[in-house]
Amino acid sequence: MNEPSSVPEQVDVVVVGAGFSGLYMLYRLRQLGLSVYVLDSAGDVGGTWYWNRYPGARCDVPTTDYAYSFDPELEKAWTWSEKYATQPEILDYLRFVADRYGLRSDIEFSATVTSARWDEQEKRWRITTGHGTEIRCRYYIMATGCLSLPKSPDIEGTDRFAGQVYFTSRWPHEGADLTGQRVAVIGTGSSGIQSIPLIARQASQLTVFQRTANFSIPAHNGPASADRLKQLGEDRDGYRHAARWSRGGIPMEPTDVLGVTASQAVRRERFEAAWELGELFGILNVFADQAVNPASNDILAEMIREKIRSIVKDPETAEMLSPKGHYFGTKRPCLDTGYFETYNMPHVRLVDLRKQPIVSITEDGIETAGQSFGFDAIVYATGFDAMTGPLVGANVAGRDGLSLKAKWEAGPSAYLGLMTAGFPNFFMLTGPGSPSVLSNMTVSIEQHVDWVARCLKDMREEGFETIEPTALAESGWNQHVQDCAAITLLPTADSWYMGANVPGKPRVFLPYIGGVDAYRQACDDVVEQGYLGFRMTGPGGDRCRDGIIRRMQPDVAMVLEFLAAMGLPPLDTLSPADARALMAATAATRPPGPEVGEVTDGVIPGPSGDLPYRLYRPAGPPEGPRPLVVYFHGGGWVLGNLDSDDPLCRDLCERSGAAVISVNYRHAPEARFPAAALDAFAAVQWADANAVELGGIPGQLAVAGWSAGANIATVTCQQARDARGPHICGQVLICPVVDSDMTRPSYQENGDGYILTTTLMRWFWDHYADPADRGHPRAAPLRGDLQGLPSTCIVAADFDPLRDEGVAYARALEAVGVPVRLTRARGHTHTSVTMVGTVISGAPVRAEIAEALRDFFPAAEPLEHGRSWAMPGRMKRPGAPERQNRTLRATGPRVVTAAVVASRYARQGAFHERDPGRNPPFVREK
Ligand code: NAP
Repeated sequence: MNEPSSVPEQVDVVVVGAGFSGLYMLYRLRQLGLSVYVLDSAGDVGGTWYWNRYPGARCDVPTTDYAYSFDPELEKAWTWSEKYATQPEILDYLRFVADRYGLRSDIEFSATVTSARWDEQEKRWRITTGHGTEIRCRYYIMATGCLSLPKSPDIEGTDRFAGQVYFTSRWPHEGADLTGQRVAVIGTGSSGIQSIPLIARQASQLTVFQRTANFSIPAHNGPASADRLKQLGEDRDGYRHAARWSRGGIPMEPTDVLGVTASQAVRRERFEAAWELGELFGILNVFADQAVNPASNDILAEMIREKIRSIVKDPETAEMLSPKGHYFGTKRPCLDTGYFETYNMPHVRLVDLRKQPIVSITEDGIETAGQSFGFDAIVYATGFDAMTGPLVGANVAGRDGLSLKAKWEAGPSAYLGLMTAGFPNFFMLTGPGSPSVLSNMTVSIEQHVDWVARCLKDMREEGFETIEPTALAESGWNQHVQDCAAITLLPTADSWYMGANVPGKPRVFLPYIGGVDAYRQACDDVVEQGYLGFRMTGPGGDRCRDGIIRRMQPDVAMVLEFLAAMGLPPLDTLSPADARALMAATAATRPPGPEVGEVTDGVIPGPSGDLPYRLYRPAGPPEGPRPLVVYFHGGGWVLGNLDSDDPLCRDLCERSGAAVISVNYRHAPEARFPAAALDAFAAVQWADANAVELGGIPGQLAVAGWSAGANIATVTCQQARDARGPHICGQVLICPVVDSDMTRPSYQENGDGYILTTTLMRWFWDHYADPADRGHPRAAPLRGDLQGLPSTCIVAADFDPLRDEGVAYARALEAVGVPVRLTRARGHTHTSVTMVGTVISGAPVRAEIAEALRDFFPAAEPLEHGRSWAMPGRMKRPGAPERQNRTLRATGPRVVTAAVVASRYARQGAFHERDPGRNPPFVREK
């Protein structure tokens, strides 16, 4: 095998693992002229493909794509025999690669690393192996894989069984003859689903113990896809490039079709095509919104369940095999060959562990609640301590003896999934926080290896010897990883992606779901920005550009990209009339916001003519009057109307349980300062006087507004205080304009590129107020008397030019004793928090606003008139507003139009609102 003849005392780099990532890492490091030593506890190369030898083990990414792409000659030299190669063939491939590049001479097999310790004095790692040798190295690289440490079966009595015991992840090299045996298989993940049909062929009786039914589609294995081969043949480089810059690591055009709006015929057609194709990325791309919208996901899941019911003859077994309780794709879906058909065989039986849990493994079989089974062999297909297990189990100690296990006790923390602070020169390939298991692994592996190789080369050229991420950069990336996951349905499942399969493991979403392309871009940007977030030291000096590479919420970034691609003219280049028309056209394409109990339009008398209003009443109990919130829309005093903020008002109403009355006001330039402020105050006075008729609770009145609407809302509070009424319980100011000073740092940082620009803000001010008036407290309320204002909730968004004035207002209010709740809209722009139904990450901020609103109002018993209120019209007094009972509902065309816009976001993972209050998690049966 041409292994190394002796163990070196010192090398530049030690790599652990000789699978796909370790082999390529060795190849690349050698190219750099570095000395490398690779250790692997296996007897040969192969990594996961060395160990996972169970019957039926195959890759489930097409082999055209599940292969190295770094050397075109290698690609020419190897031909896969099938669409999905078997484990032996993949192992042969890796052996072929090792031999072709002479890699074995730097690999020690059957060598376990027992510990790794950073020596700060020497700036070296000290690696100790099971053979008692110590190797010192500058860089230590874990190429240990994501699914390599088997989970110990958390089942009572596993050591009691006297028969044969097998683990799919450690299948005997000589194979296992199960002919004529009574066999149990525990576990129905990918390993179970692949092996069960083959085990059934040998066993005289096969009993499958299933805790969670899994989604699986037929692999339709056979020759490699003619289409993919053609594309590769015609333009290999183009194909590989497309894979590297794709979402999942396989060239694929993401669909724009939304499950919720597609016709039955289109849904069926897309689903059947994906079923026939037999590719994971195909079934994950049936609908653009399936990963984010529960309704869309349900449509797809039900079509898969239908298939299962059509294959499995016994209805009871079919029902048991039909996955319920988790959304499709939130646990890793499987590809199978005859899996469901296997249950039609007379000697195969399925036991549902939800109904009949395992009590214990016994000497001769398995005892479940109410039934004992006798077996000759038990196969555990119970999975892995995924992603973090192989790393924290490796006894790694960084600076000051800090162990990785201790550092990651509450969950992994890594910058780009590549490095972790406190562990200099320690790299992880496909570590937590990188796309890895959510992607075609080979593409992700090559990207990681290439990045590390480039990093070491750059360090050498610039005279650096150590590299380590900063705490800030690392926590920023961790946050981004969680933000990306949070807009999808994936964190709702008890999956190994969440660490939920291992008892006691912290629940954290482990991989990066933002996409291979987005991830690659982030890694490239880090390098481009002088290794942002890394500290490097050495003879070349000490260099650290600290910072966070992705601070924006992922769905907000998508919206910005989308808007940029639309190429709309900047509002400040238009006339007010054209700007209003553009705003109206954009508003017409949005998702409509949630349904509420009732929406009525009317008019109220303003100081200079009628002011239109729209009243939103929440659905559901309790019946009777509600606290009342008078809301003012945004739009720089120039734009906007009742429609422009309609989804936001619905959302506030539904979340807070308050009635919301959105009142329009006179706009500039037709009516300049202080017209808007005067109208707003009149509206609040009127709402207070007519609270009962509006279904409000007298004395429970708050004001709210966004942007310029927040400006007039808080000016109203100042006016009400001065006029000694009406009594206002609280004010919600979302990204408010409270000053005309445009020199604060947030203007410098965010004045360009985030929709509300400095130029646009100037345009608004110019239309609204003369320069001489802009310092007046009714234009710049920050400059007014703030004493005695009501409790305040201010939302300040990170990427808003108005951020700092919002914060300044909060501080100024606090200074005079006003209770203030300052809500930071992390990663948001001036507009994104209000984008109901499009920007999912805004939902938690709006939930906080609703909570603030509820806190404003004292808990009160419904008043006597409550019952009558529920019957519109009964309570109408002379002069009270007309209740029109015009309920605005989400209409078909409106949804469809919105979908066109939203699908762009959706296909990248956004679109549907989801937060704990909205989509209660499934009731788990476990
Ligand atoms: P897995 O997906 O974690 O499945 C483990 C199975 O064992 C699940 O059905 C699990 O039930 C069950 N289980 C675990 N502990 C149990 C217990 N104490 N009692 C009863 N049932 C128990 O593991 P895997 O099948 O080995 O697959 C892991 C991953 O490896 C896959 O998702 C895939 O990414 C990769 N893989 C890929 C391939 C391929 O490319 N072809 C093949 C195999 C594996 P619950 O779901 O209820 O936890």
